[in-house]
This record gives sequence, C-alpha cells and structure tokens, in this order.
Amino acid sequence: MMKYLLILAVLVVAYLIWKRNRRRKAEAQAQQTAAQRQTQPPPATPSAMLTCRHCGLHLPLTDATQGSLGFYCGPEHRRLAEG
Ligand SMILES: [Zn+2]
Repeated sequence: MMKYLLILAVLVVAYLIWKRNRRRKAEAQAQQTAAQRQTQPPPATPSAMLTCRHCGLHLPLTDATQGSLGFYCGPEHRRLAEG
C-alpha cells in the first residue's frame, strides 16, 4: 500500500513541476510579445496631401511651399503663380 502512495506522491510532484514550468513559459512568451509590441514603431500617420496651385502636383504638407494665395510644390511655382 505504501508503494502506491509513494508512486502517487511522485506523480503529483511531477505534475506540479510540469504545471509550474508551463506557466513560466507562458509568462515568458507573454512578456516577449509585449516587448515586441513595444519595439514596433507606431503606425505612420498619413500626412495631409495638398495640390500645387500652379501645376496641380500632389505633395505632402511638409514638402509644400506656402504662398499668400495657397500652397505650391516649390518657391519657383509660387513665384510663377503670384509674381
Ligand atoms: Zn507646382
């Protein structure tokens, strides 16, 4: 009878160790995915697009040249359009 109890105890201990290892692995994996999410760059925000008043070229706001009448693709077209 004592032999069966000993086997049962060993099985229980083995099960507890396996369960703990599995939980640790899951935690490590969760931390890894969280770290990956943090290192990923944020989604690029689409910059506003506008049209050159002189030639109709579409360009982002950051590349545009502002004139008194509107936006242009460069100072050359601003000069041509506004004089
Ligand atoms: Zn232009």
